[in-house]
Amino acid sequence: MPENNKSNDKPLNFIEKIITNDLAKGAVNKITTRFPPEPNGYLHIGHAKSICLNFGLAKQFGGTCHLRFDDTNPAKEEVEYVDSIKEDIHWLGFEWDGEVRFTSDYFDQLYDWAIFLIKENKAYVCDLNQEEMRQYRGNLTQAGQDSPYRSRSVEENLALFEKMRLGELEEGACSLRVKIDMSHPNMQMRDPVIYRIKKMAHHQTGDKWCIYPSYDYAHGQGDAIEGISHSICTLEFEEHRPVYDWFINNLPVPSTPHQYEFSRLNVNYTITSKRKLKLLVDEKHVDGWDDPRLPTISGMRRRGFTPKSIRQFCDMAGVTRVDGVVDVSMLEYAIRNDLNENAQRAMCVLHPLKVILTNYPDDKKEQMIAPSHPNRDDLGTRTLPFSREILIDQDDFREVANKKYKRLVIGKRVRLRNSYIIEADAAIKDDDGNIIEVHARIIEDTVGKNPADGIKAKGVIHWVCATDHIDCEVRLYDRLFTEEAPDAAGKDFLDSINPNSLEVLTGCKGEIGLKNATVKDHYQFEREGYFILDTKYSSDERKIFNRTIGLRDTWERKA
Ligand code: ATP
Ligand code: MG
Repeated sequence: MPENNKSNDKPLNFIEKIITNDLAKGAVNKITTRFPPEPNGYLHIGHAKSICLNFGLAKQFGGTCHLRFDDTNPAKEEVEYVDSIKEDIHWLGFEWDGEVRFTSDYFDQLYDWAIFLIKENKAYVCDLNQEEMRQYRGNLTQAGQDSPYRSRSVEENLALFEKMRLGELEEGACSLRVKIDMSHPNMQMRDPVIYRIKKMAHHQTGDKWCIYPSYDYAHGQGDAIEGISHSICTLEFEEHRPVYDWFINNLPVPSTPHQYEFSRLNVNYTITSKRKLKLLVDEKHVDGWDDPRLPTISGMRRRGFTPKSIRQFCDMAGVTRVDGVVDVSMLEYAIRNDLNENAQRAMCVLHPLKVILTNYPDDKKEQMIAPSHPNRDDLGTRTLPFSREILIDQDDFREVANKKYKRLVIGKRVRLRNSYIIEADAAIKDDDGNIIEVHARIIEDTVGKNPADGIKAKGVIHWVCATDHIDCEVRLYDRLFTEEAPDAAGKDFLDSINPNSLEVLTGCKGEIGLKNATVKDHYQFEREGYFILDTKYSSDERKIFNRTIGLRDTWERKA
């Protein structure tokens, strides 16, 4: 496992304190956590936080972390999601203990325990339909009423539950509920349902079952079977904790886990709900779950985020019980921080403009040597072919400009990055007045000399050789939503989709070394940002680079 990106001088968070305390007083002697995704979508940045927390705690306290698919609802679950989730966890740098586990592995045991509860007269088959059940439940200010089926005999309940299991009753005809307290102030304790009839095949158990346990019933018992010491979930389950404890106290479970809640990670300009992400995918607002604009782990990977940057971000966000929204610029900071240190430098011209160096011989070619990283000698050097014709970015030339413009201007000098200082003489235009070519001269003896014998350049621009380069496509991404809280109450997140979130630039020209780029190589295209090859559509014939992030935060300026 990787280092947890945890700064050592950071005070313990509340869960670390609980664990430290539990270990000190001997309440537990080994820490076992679990990450329990439901395989009904791809993982997103919020899940990354839960992964970093659960796997991180196990590592920090010398324990283990399980991966358990919480697969109690066959209606929405698929094997594709199971596979993607495993891949994402590995990619983030974590390894679960032993085999992958499934809540469905415990269906037999859960069924036996349901029988146990019926025999103890603590569970009953209830024929109320959903609407009736809601009415009987009461509300926050009003106690509920006992179901008319609550007093069925143990024998009758056993017989009916058997019929449920055998598929002899229709979906919705009845359910199995536990007898807790219909006037309990906590609504969750008002006889929760633990089994429903669902005549549906399951991706792990096939046709074996037509009754499926509820999350509340299955989750804690899964924890108990696996010997989980600290079952960590998000705050919305706080109300469910008494139910969790009720099962642990009323079943002959092999261990007694405890549930702890922390606040969900929310990020502004972003959506972290599988249901909403699925809608964006299904309605084709984006190009699949791995669209680089999505906050899914697979999307962020395709975009060029590194596991380390995501772990650092999760660590920076902290673990608390206070709900809040984290600024997306913190995530952007984390990725810039990593890539600035580790990405190789390269030059790529996004909007090419030809420059002819009129005093440079036609048949001459030089090989400029440039460092792959300004302060990482270990990354070596690269070779940049240089000839009479080069390409620069259209934005880097103007016929006339004021002093603030530190690029190429007629009669003025600029440094070509890693090469000569040049001076522009003329702009050549087509019949419509568009600049199609610039004529300039090199200033001799200025390579590698800065400032070169009193010869001053106004600035530094990037370039590539006009004959020796690679052709590529570049994709620039902007935030997917224009609103800070796209799914705030009363808002439809589809209304604030940013129509300009993807800009595709064709005809870009990259330095020749980029022909060897692989999907593992992160680059800083000098002055343009950080880039990586697109894993989905890029090929040898058609190289496509995704911009992970710009060099600095330009959003505030634009807004
Ligand atoms: P979603 O609301 O996106 O569907 P979920 O909670 O239903 O999320 P699960 O597959 O049940 O998705 O989540 C697996 C684990 O990840 C759970 O323990 C859950 O609490 C945690 N988790 C999900 N979203 C977040 C989040 N935004 N921040 C922190 N943890 C999260
Ligand atoms: Mg969930």
